[in-house]
Amino acid sequence: IGDIDQIFHNPLHPYTAALLRAVPNPLKRIEKLESIPGTVPNLITPPKGCRFHPRCPFAEERCRREVPELKEIEPGHWVACHRY
Ligand code: SF4
Repeated sequence: IGDIDQIFHNPLHPYTAALLRAVPNPLKRIEKLESIPGTVPNLITPPKGCRFHPRCPFAEERCRREVPELKEIEPGHWVACHRY
């Protein structure tokens, strides 16, 4: 959660950062778009802990056990991730 500058210029959550890297840039010629590995979680039986942990490159044991709390990292900029 944050304003446009915070989200687009300093995305804190690994999922947000990965989504922004996947946006095509019309000014750059690339061979392949970046994508987030894995598949969207099953919403009926979602993963325990952080729901992004099966696809997160930063996931650690705590991420598999505990749901991260939403924290304000700077005024108006919030994130729910154990890295913060
Ligand atoms: S809590 Fe862990 S798994 Fe979830 S986004 Fe943060 S680092 Fe990745």
